[in-house]
Amino acid sequence: MNPISDFRSDTVTKPTSEMRRAMAEAEVGDDVLGDDLTVQKLESLAADTLGKKAALYVPSGTMGNSIAIKAWTRELDEVIIEARSHIYNMESTHMTFISRVSPRVLTSHRGAMDPGEVENNIKKPSVHLPRTSLICIENTHNNWGGAVIPLENMRSIKAIAEKHGIHVHLDGARLFNASVASGVPVKEYARMSDSVMFCLSKGLSAPIGSILAGPQDFIDLGRRIRKALGGGMRQVGVIAAPGILALQNMVSRLKEDHMRAKKLALAIHKMPGIQLNPEFVETDIIIFGFEHSDLAVPDLLNRLKQKGILALSVPQGVRMVTNRGIDDNDIERTINAFNNILHS
Ligand SMILES: *Cc1c(COP(=O)(O)O)cnc(C)c1O
Repeated sequence: MNPISDFRSDTVTKPTSEMRRAMAEAEVGDDVLGDDLTVQKLESLAADTLGKKAALYVPSGTMGNSIAIKAWTRELDEVIIEARSHIYNMESTHMTFISRVSPRVLTSHRGAMDPGEVENNIKKPSVHLPRTSLICIENTHNNWGGAVIPLENMRSIKAIAEKHGIHVHLDGARLFNASVASGVPVKEYARMSDSVMFCLSKGLSAPIGSILAGPQDFIDLGRRIRKALGGGMRQVGVIAAPGILALQNMVSRLKEDHMRAKKLALAIHKMPGIQLNPEFVETDIIIFGFEHSDLAVPDLLNRLKQKGILALSVPQGVRMVTNRGIDDNDIERTINAFNNILHS
């Protein structure tokens, strides 16, 4: 068993020895000058995988989303976005700080915005109002416990966007989780948006980096914005090399993370204090409410930590994420720990 069962995120995994070897042996060059063959290979593999014309390797998902919003909008514009989305809540206001656009925040059903409501919130051209230029969708939806946004929902929103001549950006930090859980190919999800960001550094287990993909002129502009934000990197093949292995070898194993998350959710959802519908655990994220007569959330997290189990506190309660570092023994140990803490 691992000394620590680390459920804080799917970003806590370390590179495999194969990834370490690929880093050591990567063919590299100055990527700002267009010389790094490894990053070029990663970018074209990522573009092909998503069925997009071009892709850009970026240091983080946050930078990928920042570039997308900057590229698709102008000052005085408005962006339609879901209330619990990562871009709106967790990315330190780059919408206002970098792009100088205002968010139009919509509630949702488990992350899926109502297409009619989206359409009603697209502003008619007016001297008084911002111009709506972009809709952002998040799939899987992090703060909705890794919920998979249905393809049909995305299709309806894309049709509305096209009707009004505005763009759709997909924050697909965990898009491969959505695809593995639903059986819908990533290309199909990507087709329902103009641009896509996904993270190599989450369940796919690469140490660093995300991909932004879209049309060629969008990526050409994105490359300039990345440079302006300080994200132009030199012999970047050293960190891009494990990203290639992540795409080639790590997608199929996401189903193991999903199975383990489901197993844990089913085992703990009826325990005292835990508020969780295991049907809502569709991918690798478990978020549960916790109201217990003797224990508050920090107490529960401390008791778990004493048993070598790490989880995080979130506004809704507790968040646990399965990842490549969690095996079946970690799940058993964690179920036993919950039993022990909550049934004593
Ligand atoms: C993690 C995450 C991001 C940002 O990725 P970083 O690499 O941490 O900047 C964006 N969107 C969602 C939904 C995420 O979960």
